[in-house]
Amino acid sequence: MKKLLLLLFLFLPFTNALSQSRKAENLIVVVLDGMRWQEIFAGADSAIINNPLFTKDKKQVQKQFWDSDPVKRREMLFPFLWEIIATNGQVYGNRNLKNEVNVSNPFQMTYPGFSEMLTGYADPAISSNKLVVSKSENVLEFINKQKGYEKKVAVFATSDLFPFLLDRQNSKLFINSDTDTLNFTSKESKLLNEMQKLTTKPTTERPDILTYFAAKEYLKVFKPKVLYLAFGETDAFAHQGNYDQYLETAKAEDNMIAELWKLVQSIPQYKNKTTLILTCDHGRGDLIKEQWTSHGSKIRDSGQIWIAAIGPDTKALGEVKMAGNLFQAQLAATMAAVLGFKYQPKTHEAMKPIFSIFSNN
Ligand SMILES: [Zn+2]
Repeated sequence: MKKLLLLLFLFLPFTNALSQSRKAENLIVVVLDGMRWQEIFAGADSAIINNPLFTKDKKQVQKQFWDSDPVKRREMLFPFLWEIIATNGQVYGNRNLKNEVNVSNPFQMTYPGFSEMLTGYADPAISSNKLVVSKSENVLEFINKQKGYEKKVAVFATSDLFPFLLDRQNSKLFINSDTDTLNFTSKESKLLNEMQKLTTKPTTERPDILTYFAAKEYLKVFKPKVLYLAFGETDAFAHQGNYDQYLETAKAEDNMIAELWKLVQSIPQYKNKTTLILTCDHGRGDLIKEQWTSHGSKIRDSGQIWIAAIGPDTKALGEVKMAGNLFQAQLAATMAAVLGFKYQPKTHEAMKPIFSIFSNN
């Protein structure tokens, strides 16, 4: 009996403390498609800037993004990430400091990456970017079934793969991707639909700025508790070998994330109750510099990624300088854990969450 009491004494206050102190009720995840960790941690790459095959306007790129100090350089490219998230949150994946984040799928491309991130494992059935419907339960579907979160999960994406990955027909998740229009009647949504109809497409999909504004408008009107926002342009411009625009887009997306964070901090539902996670779906080549444009199982280093997080339960560890190794597959359970849920999909076993992102103890 004494032993039991002691156990209760040790165990109960701890579990209560964990559940009672958790402040996050909302989650925003933003994914920058194929954004390399090399630029995240060291800014623009001089070898690529100096190659006229990839950089059209070297002077302009240098003016905007170059400083001999890599710390200044990365702040020029990602001001919000380095001024706000790195000060108040966490940034993982600087391999120069032996802090590594990797995908666990062997394919190192978009659909397998997003699948791993959202299902919590490397699904062998998703081995290419072919648009097949995923049969694995994903964490967004899982959260959307939890009490208080029903119909409160929204996905906005530039790529058209999400209706397949998230099985739109059966999961009933709200998904707006590529050519989907906004079917609500505010002035702004009508304007966005018109812009989407008339826009040029510098890549094959809708511009990220439209994905962003669609998400922002939806958030203002419907106040989802979970917003998953997947941009596509960084990957598309990299495949084009267009370093100027890859950098421009990366900076524009950092600015969009900053604006979104400012907006949520002005809305009572979200203020100090929202966790933001940033990441990418895969890396790109680096060892052979010309391979920066590409990724996939044959491109070395393209399984190397990064993760950043900020939120009321996320300690301010800054740029994580400890040796360590995290995996993309851990993000699914992490997204659930941020909101106090244990992600246990019925279709497969998911990897464990990243404790340091959601635990403020
Ligand atoms: Zn990708």
